[in-house]
Parts: sequence; structure tokens; C-alpha cells
Amino acid sequence: MQQTITHCVWCDTKLHANRSWQGLWGREQRATICESCLQQFEVFTQPEEACFIYNEIASEWLQRYKIQKDLLLATSFTQQLRQRLLKERAIIVPVPLHPLKLQERTFAQVEQLLIAAALPYEEHLLKKDNITQGLGSRAERLQRENPFVLRDRTAVLNRDFVIFDDVCTTGVTLQHIVMLFKEAGARKVTTFTLFRSEFTRMMYNK
Ligand SMILES: [Zn+2]
Repeated sequence: MQQTITHCVWCDTKLHANRSWQGLWGREQRATICESCLQQFEVFTQPEEACFIYNEIASEWLQRYKIQKDLLLATSFTQQLRQRLLKERAIIVPVPLHPLKLQERTFAQVEQLLIAAALPYEEHLLKKDNITQGLGSRAERLQRENPFVLRDRTAVLNRDFVIFDDVCTTGVTLQHIVMLFKEAGARKVTTFTLFRSEFTRMMYNK
């Protein structure tokens, strides 16, 4: 998918050929973001929870990827995502967009990150409606109706899952989803995001 990318997807400078042994073995995909751009993204302190800290540049990246629909950016962090998720034995489940939002945005941004990284995943979730999550206290938000449903409850029984999203700020979305899987009898449910707010501690991510 990314063999034609010769320039950094973030700053557009020419990329140097990457001749690492992984590259020679065809095991790793080539970086599509240059080293100096990559260094601007702060590595998250808990590597099993997220790749990078959700900060100003992360927010800028998301804006360009999701709102300006710069689809090439989906390849930015394939190496980091593969590093964490390739050996993952649990089933990767991307967090879906509401169908209306999907229409607006024209592509499934979270799934595209996995597709670009050539990571296998299963779709188990549907988003019911457009509940605004920004209002009310954390407890109030949690008590509201879960905006997600499982496509088939019996399909998650006694299986392990890692829920994948692009960004985790309050943790509310992921908490809803983890509850849903656990109620349906999933064995172990963890979460992983590309970006995560430093202040978010996922108590249930054990
Ligand atoms: Zn660059």
C-alpha cells in the first residue's frame, strides 16, 4: 500500500532509503514519516496502552488525518502499531464511527490505521447514535446509555480482545466498550490507542 511513498507524509521532505535488516527480510514496512518528524511525537510512558502522548502535535495530526482527510497519514505509525500489536494474541477490535459520521468523513479512520499496518482485526461493534460525550461529569457520562452495541454477543464469549482506537482523552468511550464485552462474557479485554492523554489511567486495563 505504501511502496510509492517517497516523501515524509508529515513534512514532505524526501525520505532516506531504510535498509534495516527488517526491511531486507520484508518483515517491517518502511517508515513513511521522517526521523525528525517522528521525534516530535512523545512516546507514551505505558507502551502497552498507547504509542504516543496526546499533545499538541498529536491533535494536529488527528485534525489533518480525520478532518482534512489526509489518508496517507494512516501510514505514519505503522511500525509503532505493529511493534505493539503484531504479537498480540487477543483479537484486535477497532472502534467504529457512527455510520453518519462515516459518511461525512468518507473513510473509516481507525480501521485504516490497522489496514495500513497490515494488522488483522475483527469488527464486533456498532455505534448506535450520536450521543455527545463532552457534557456532564464523568459519572454522569458513564451512566448514560452505552452508545455501542455488539454485532453478535455470542461471538465474544470466552475470547480475549484488545480494543483499538485512534485517541483516548477521557477514557469514557473505551470504558463503555470494555463493559460491553465483559457483560457479554469476553475473557480478557484490554485497550490500546495511537494517542492517549497522559492524565488518563485505565483502571480496568488489567
Ligand atoms: Zn518529516
